[in-house]
Amino acid sequence: MELIITKKELKKRLGRAGNIQSIGFVPTMGALHKGHLSLIEQAGKENEIVVVSIFVNPTQFNDKTDLEKYPRTLETDLQKLKGTPCDYVFYPDVDEMYPEPDTRKFDFGQLEKVLDGRYRPGHFNGVAQIVSKFFEIIKPDKAYFGLKDFQQFVIIKALVNQLNLNIEIVPCPIIREADGLAMSSRNTRLSPGQRANAAVIPKTLFEAKNLTSRYNVQQLEEWVIKTINKNPYLNVEYFKIVDDERLQPVNDWAEPVRKVGCIAIHCGGVRLIDNVIFN
Ligand code: AMP
Repeated sequence: MELIITKKELKKRLGRAGNIQSIGFVPTMGALHKGHLSLIEQAGKENEIVVVSIFVNPTQFNDKTDLEKYPRTLETDLQKLKGTPCDYVFYPDVDEMYPEPDTRKFDFGQLEKVLDGRYRPGHFNGVAQIVSKFFEIIKPDKAYFGLKDFQQFVIIKALVNQLNLNIEIVPCPIIREADGLAMSSRNTRLSPGQRANAAVIPKTLFEAKNLTSRYNVQQLEEWVIKTINKNPYLNVEYFKIVDDERLQPVNDWAEPVRKVGCIAIHCGGVRLIDNVIFN
């Protein structure tokens, strides 16, 4: 495994002249956990070469404090990557990725007007800026994204379509802690009390799956929000049940679409997201 910090060096290593059969790419912001590692394992099974990026992308943070407080743990990340199929760790600095300000404005239509797009203005534009840059440099055959960030996965698929890129976007299941909390780099910022109470989030989401015959869609959304907000550590920003392709609100359980319940919660100063599939 090699650590690479410049685009030029990475492009040189990945030059197609070397007869590389396929490149799998896993973008991350570091502070790696088993969720990230599962993406890397999957990439290793399906590709000859695996590239993992570690880059805390400033353009996708609409909240400056969140950017400043984002955990940065390169040394332990590299230790964790040693036991994985990762061949190249791409660890550029901000100037390397943004030698000039990126003024591109992407348009994802309705996809970016709901859920996190609504509450984190500019977030998905920043994600599209950095991911499109990585795609351009690495030219992967497949790129791996976790379903924890469900809206991100849908938007990246739209990005690839818009740019006519021949990259397969591979969805990977949510990896959870023993008590059900979705793994996240931000979990390390929770106090012990916050961390223990955050388990109420998945518990409520899983319970909700069993209540679809008792409540209609809107009632169930209200039940989830009320149940979680009863916990003094947790404050729901939104919980919406949407279809899994266009991310539009579902009004009736009978609608012939796959339904995903997406949630964002504030736990102290930490913002967490999760989701659950209803059918
Ligand atoms: P991040 O470092 O948080 O930007 O995440 C990098 C990638 O790992 C994204 O595709 C995330 O969706 C994915 N990821 C993060 N947490 C998890 C998890 N608990 N399970 C599966 N994938 C995850």
